[in-house]
Amino acid sequence: MSASEAASGLDDRLAAVRAGVVDAARSAGRDPADITTIVVTKFHPASLVSELYAAGVRDVGENRHQEAQVKSGELADLPGLRWHFVGQLQSKKARQARRYAHAVHSLDRDSVIDALASDEGLLDGFVQVNLTDDPGRGGVSPDRLETVVERVLATPGLRLRGLMAVAPLDEEARPAFARLRTLSERVRVLAPDARDISAGMSHDYREAIAEGATHLRIGTAITGLRPEGR
Ligand SMILES: *Cc1c(COP(=O)(O)O)cnc(C)c1O
Repeated sequence: MSASEAASGLDDRLAAVRAGVVDAARSAGRDPADITTIVVTKFHPASLVSELYAAGVRDVGENRHQEAQVKSGELADLPGLRWHFVGQLQSKKARQARRYAHAVHSLDRDSVIDALASDEGLLDGFVQVNLTDDPGRGGVSPDRLETVVERVLATPGLRLRGLMAVAPLDEEARPAFARLRTLSERVRVLAPDARDISAGMSHDYREAIAEGATHLRIGTAITGLRPEGR
């Protein structure tokens, strides 16, 4: 396959997902303009991000600090490109992540939240919630939600946008995202502006849209298979 064939595959997949998002939004009686699609580019080279940028993508997601730092540095000349950090962040890397990230979607530990405090500028933050009963999965358990939300609200330099979650593997996505929506209503009691919901991946973004997701994190459905690993 030539480079141009690979690029047209990318354009086709991007167009298909964009159409799918519009379709799911309309079915849910929602305005597609209220939904941001973040293309998760982890494990792909910076050149793929450039191709996405040329196709109009402005929001990309990464889940490893080292990789995100290198790629965002290589592409620092692309105006308006926003980097979303969607993976586990080590607190000792938090200050460095602030330099390139527009948003961190994985706030779930006091140490990371505290390390992101800053007097310079505002970083968007999503509190990640665990929708499973397994405490080993990322995210705060729903019973700790208010405590963690209060901590983010008290942290200078962080602007709470709302909640983030990954659907459980052993359950239908739709009822899990319905729980997330209910948790989001709890957050809005404390922070009326924090109404965003980061949910929905390649295989479940339609269900997420039906339950109010405002930020989709879509990888393989747009990028194709990742070159290595996850
Ligand atoms: C990789 C990843 C995604 C994208 O997953 P796909 O199944 O490729 O769409 C979304 N969210 C997080 C947190 C991820 O790590």
